Amino acid sequence: MVRRRQRVLQGMGVSPGIAIGRAVCIATKALEVYRLPLPASDIVQEIQRFEEAIDQTRAHLETTRSRAGERLGEELAAIFDAHALMLSDESFRGRIIARIRSEKVNAEWAVHKTVEELDREFRALEAPSFQERREDLVDVSRYLLRSLSGIAHHELSEVEGDVVIVANDLTPSEAVRLGRENVLGFIIETGGRTSHTTIIARSLHLPMVAGVHGVTELVTDQDPVVVDGDGGKVILHPGQDILQRFAAKRLQLAEERRLRLAERDLPATTQDGVTVRLMANIDLPEEIDDAISFGAEGVGLYRSEFLYIERSPELPTEEEHLEIYTRMLRAMSPHPVVIRTFDLGGRRLARDVLHTEEENPVLGMRGIRLTLALPEIFKTQLRALLRAAPRGNLRVMLPLVSSVEEVRAFNVLMTDVANELEQEGLEFSREFDLGVMIEVPAAAMGARGLAREADFFSIGTNDLIQYAMAVDRNNDHVSHLYRPMHPAILLMIRLVVNAAAEAGIDVSVCGEMAGDPLAASVLAGLGLRSLSMSPDVIADVKQRIRRLHLADLEALMDECLEMTTEAEVKSRLATSLDGMTVPDRP
Ligand code: PEP
Ligand code: MG
Repeated sequence: MVRRRQRVLQGMGVSPGIAIGRAVCIATKALEVYRLPLPASDIVQEIQRFEEAIDQTRAHLETTRSRAGERLGEELAAIFDAHALMLSDESFRGRIIARIRSEKVNAEWAVHKTVEELDREFRALEAPSFQERREDLVDVSRYLLRSLSGIAHHELSEVEGDVVIVANDLTPSEAVRLGRENVLGFIIETGGRTSHTTIIARSLHLPMVAGVHGVTELVTDQDPVVVDGDGGKVILHPGQDILQRFAAKRLQLAEERRLRLAERDLPATTQDGVTVRLMANIDLPEEIDDAISFGAEGVGLYRSEFLYIERSPELPTEEEHLEIYTRMLRAMSPHPVVIRTFDLGGRRLARDVLHTEEENPVLGMRGIRLTLALPEIFKTQLRALLRAAPRGNLRVMLPLVSSVEEVRAFNVLMTDVANELEQEGLEFSREFDLGVMIEVPAAAMGARGLAREADFFSIGTNDLIQYAMAVDRNNDHVSHLYRPMHPAILLMIRLVVNAAAEAGIDVSVCGEMAGDPLAASVLAGLGLRSLSMSPDVIADVKQRIRRLHLADLEALMDECLEMTTEAEVKSRLATSLDGMTVPDRP
C-alpha cells in the first residue's frame, strides 16, 4: 500500500487537547441544485439514473435502520421505516419521473421541485401527522440528492473506531449530537474562538481546530489524522514519529489535568489579599461534576438552551427542566446556580419554535426577545424555575437584554406564572435573584438604569465584543478584528462595574474572557471580583490570580483605559504584568 504524504494544515486551536483518529467528512451545507435542460434522447437514461439513486438510497436506509435498531432501539429506528416507505411510494416516484419527462430536466431538479411542491401541500394540511411527514420529506430528498451527486452517505453509527469529524461548518446542535457519538475531535473550515460550536466542543472535552480553509477538499474518509487543539494544527497522514509525539503529549495533558485537580481547594486570593470568586459555565448538565471537581464556587452560567437543542424537535417538559435544575442546585448548594433562560435564536436552533426566515438572525429574534414573543413556550421554563427555587440558591438570568422594558415584561410574566402555581397548590418560591446579562452595547451604556431593575449583572463579553466591534464571533475571516482588549471594550466593562457598584449589586463576567488567565487578570484589574468560566480552566485562572498584586494592576488598568489601540494595551500589559506577579514557582 502506498503511504500518503504527511501534511500539516494550520488553523485556529479553539478547543484544547489532542485527537488521533480517522477522518469522517460530513457535508453540512445544503447541496446546491441546478436546473439542467436535457435533450429528449437523454430522458430514458436520466430516469434510469433516478431509479438507481432510489435503489442505492433504499439500500443505505436498510443498513442504517438495522444498525440504529441495535444501538438506539426499535422506536427510534422506525424513523427510517418512514423514510423507506416514502421512497417506495409510487405516487412520490411517479411525480418525479413525470417531471423529468414533461419538463426534460435533470433528476436533481425534478426531486427538488417535487419535494418543494409536496412540502407546500403538506403545509396546507395542518394536521400534526402531515407536519412530521414534511420533515421526512426533507430527509428523503437530502438522501436522494446525495445519491444522485455520488456523495457517500454517512450515519455516524456506521463508522467504527476513532472518528474525527471534518466539515465545512457545524451548528452547535450538530456538535452536541456528534459529540455524544464515538467522535474524538472536530476539524472545521469556518468558526471562531467564541462561537457556540466551539463552546460545546470544549464542554464535551473534544479537541477542535477551526478555520482550516479547504480541508474538506483535501481530506477523504478514513484518512488518518491528528487534531492538535492547542497548537491549532491538523496533521494529515501523520508519520510514526508524529503519532508517537502526539500520543505522548496526550498523556502529558491528562497528567497536567490531574495536577490541576489537586489545587481545587486553594482560594483564588491575590498576593495583596483580594479574593475573586471563580464559578463554572455549564452547557450540558453532566458538567456539574467537572465544576465540583475543579472547585467552582457556584455555576455562573447554565446555558439552558442546550437542553432544548438536545431534545429538539421535542420541547423539554416542565418536569425535565425541574429535574435538571434541582440536580444542579443540590450539587452546588450552598453556592449559587445562575440559570439563564433560553438563549435560542441566532445560530442556535430556533427552527422548531420560530416560523420566520430571518436575513440576519444574530440581530433578530434571539434571547429574551424570542422568549418574550413566545410566552407559552417560555412559561414551561419559568414554572420549573419557580418550582426549583426552594431547592437551593437559585439565580435567574436574562440573555440579550437591550432595554429596561424587557426586564419589566419578564417580571410581569413571572408574576402570572407564580399566581398560576399558587392556584394549583404546587410547591414553589417567588424568592430568587434576577440577573441581566450585559452583552449588548446599549445595555452596557444603560447599565445604571438596568441596575435599578436587577439583582446582579453578568457581562457576556462574547456577544458584547461581537456587537460592539461589529465582528461576527463565528466568522474566521474577521476574527483578527475581534479584540477583547480594545480600550473601548475595557471602558464598557468598567462602566458596567461602576454602575453595579453604585447600585450595590453583584457583577460578574461569564464570557470567554473570564477563562483566559491574562484576560481574567485584566478583568480583576477593572474591578471584577467574580468570574465564570468553563470548569477545565478554573485551575489555570486561579493559579494566575494567586500570583497577582492587584493594587498595581488596578492602577495599570486606569492607564490602559486612556489608550487608543488594543496593541498599546497588550504591549503595556506584556511589559508590566510580570512585575505585578510573583514567579510561577517561588
Ligand atoms: C456571552 O455572550 O459572553 C455569553 C456568555 O453568552 P453566550 O456565549 O452563550 O452567547
Ligand atoms: Mg451571549
